[in-house]
Amino acid sequence: MNQVFNEAAKIIGSSKKCIALTGAGISAESGIPTFRSKGGLWNSYDPTVYASIDTFMKDPSKYWSIRGDFIRKYNDYSPNQGHLALASLENAGIVKCIITQNIDGLHRKAGSKKVLEIHGSLREIFCISCGKEYIAPDIPPGDVPHCTCGGVLKPNTVLFGEDLPPAVLSEAEEYAASCDVMILAGTSATVYPAAYLPVTAKRNGAKVIEINLEYSFTDSDIFIEEKSGTALPMIEEQLKKIEV
Ligand SMILES: [Zn+2]
Repeated sequence: MNQVFNEAAKIIGSSKKCIALTGAGISAESGIPTFRSKGGLWNSYDPTVYASIDTFMKDPSKYWSIRGDFIRKYNDYSPNQGHLALASLENAGIVKCIITQNIDGLHRKAGSKKVLEIHGSLREIFCISCGKEYIAPDIPPGDVPHCTCGGVLKPNTVLFGEDLPPAVLSEAEEYAASCDVMILAGTSATVYPAAYLPVTAKRNGAKVIEINLEYSFTDSDIFIEEKSGTALPMIEEQLKKIEV
């Protein structure tokens, strides 16, 4: 097993533009409920009802009934060793950007600065009438929280039927096309448009290092069958050995 961490560290250590693409797997290790996987939220609740923009506009209480607790307990969740290792690699000038499908804000909590949240973030809640912003967990009480103006509050996340934020997505695509190494951590990268990103990276000559409990991206140069919270600190350790 050490061999594979060493190989990954060599590739990352000699990269000029290493980026990471992360998904639900890395946050599951922090106790964040997953959505699509077995036992995930969308097994119990139909996302086209509970998390679609159409339903939200008609009856936001459905969304808030399943997400409200999580958002109000926003500060209860902490980044794990995987998030921290990525932040530390960015701090060392190695990782240039993190693209994440996660909406939990844990990369920012871990201290990462260049984070592209392509599905938005639960941290920011805004009023759909006046646009006033609230920051989780400091949001008004109630089954459906309302703004001081009376408008309904909606987290700044992409619901089913909504477009991904175009500026964030296009920046993510630029990073994917110009990176020379992409670390896939805790994401199956099968959901579009995020699924295009490693394909784009490979097409432009980048090496892809996949850290997952299940082999998902069939075109990876290195596959590490491990949790992100275990593998990323191991790679960081190996990198330190290379540097000295
Ligand atoms: Zn308002």
